Amino acid sequence: MSLFENTLKQIRNASTLMKLDEDIEIILSNPQRIVQVSLPVRMDDGKLKIFQGFRVQHNNYAGPHKGGIRYHSQVDMGEVKALAAWMTIKCSVVGIPLGGGKGGIVVNPKELSEDELERLTRKYVQMIAPVIGPKIDVPAPDVNTNGKIMAWIADEYSQIVGEECPGVVTGKPLEAGGIEGRSTATAQGGVYVLEELMNDMGLKREDTKVIVQGYGNAGGVAANLLADLGYKVVGASDSQGGLFCNYGINPQELHSCKIEKNTVKNCGLHMTEIHGMDGASCKKVSNDEILEEECDVLVLAALENQITASNASRIKAKIIIELANGPTSPEADEILKSKGITVVPDILANAGGVTVSYFEMLQNESGKKWTAVEVDEKLKEIMTIAWHEVKLNAETYKSTLREAAFITAIARLEAKIMEKGEL
Ligand code: GLU
Repeated sequence: MSLFENTLKQIRNASTLMKLDEDIEIILSNPQRIVQVSLPVRMDDGKLKIFQGFRVQHNNYAGPHKGGIRYHSQVDMGEVKALAAWMTIKCSVVGIPLGGGKGGIVVNPKELSEDELERLTRKYVQMIAPVIGPKIDVPAPDVNTNGKIMAWIADEYSQIVGEECPGVVTGKPLEAGGIEGRSTATAQGGVYVLEELMNDMGLKREDTKVIVQGYGNAGGVAANLLADLGYKVVGASDSQGGLFCNYGINPQELHSCKIEKNTVKNCGLHMTEIHGMDGASCKKVSNDEILEEECDVLVLAALENQITASNASRIKAKIIIELANGPTSPEADEILKSKGITVVPDILANAGGVTVSYFEMLQNESGKKWTAVEVDEKLKEIMTIAWHEVKLNAETYKSTLREAAFITAIARLEAKIMEKGEL
């Protein structure tokens, strides 16, 4: 099943449970606009190379399209369509007045020099400029994109329209109009939700072992936040592999080690040194193997389709937090449900990122800077309210949290669509 078919299945499941008007389901199952662009880029060796880029604008009934841009060799139209639809749903779960969109370029950015990456980014902006803008569609970081790339996007777009326009993109560095706390927002939002769930389940942080799959932007920050709160991080991995250390890992040390040694898996010895433990208690595991290790909370912060029908039955965690988009397939959801594993779905767990992006848009619009405390308080409030709404719907509809999050979001979208008098 393709990733977009997974999304459609999720929409269908929720629609059935809530007895949704068929026309609303049709609207939500079809992106409003799909843009595909060819990007000719001069490489450092003088040769011209063509890259493929996409921008999908799924829905804008609640507000401007919103969603990241990812740079990855596996990007394709189906993936971008799925990710764009999840953005519409995600923004609606947390009740922010934004729609959904997503972009991507088929490229492994690690194979490009910084100059090549900048030329590629600027070319992409030139090609999609007619369909983006602060009130139309506002990109942001996603897999393998960051503040620096967002600053290039803002600069290129501003040159095209002939005036400073930082509001065309979010996730910018502070000095380019960015907001405090955006880079930690995805993880922080997920942690706020996990804390609520832990409370409901009567679990204690110090007895809770955590594994983080995907030690990048979201996963690395989540590990730090959780360790600071007293959780015991016992495993971490990135695309090249990972470590499982039964006695615990110090995420800050692991973070510095990853920067130095490029991947978590080369940090085994380092861990041993930090903890003065014998090397045998830390073992190297692959990015797939780590999912099946013993833990209480499994944080999925890598890519989509990590838990599928083929490995779901071997998952040992009690709770799964999806900081990545689409890490669990619909078939896996069924299996996890039958095993009694609670999955906090991506559209709720990782919505902190786009929520703080929304604050950044407000900041750019008003010119009034938000403090880190203001961002954090408002983020916590929004995530907590969304959690309670989703939980209530899960009880009302006797559904999983994913189904309940979809129901929460779709009910709000239905009201917006009706409000516009479209049907
Ligand atoms: N790429 C992030 C996501 O998937 C953030 C999107 C945004 O801030 O617009 O939610």
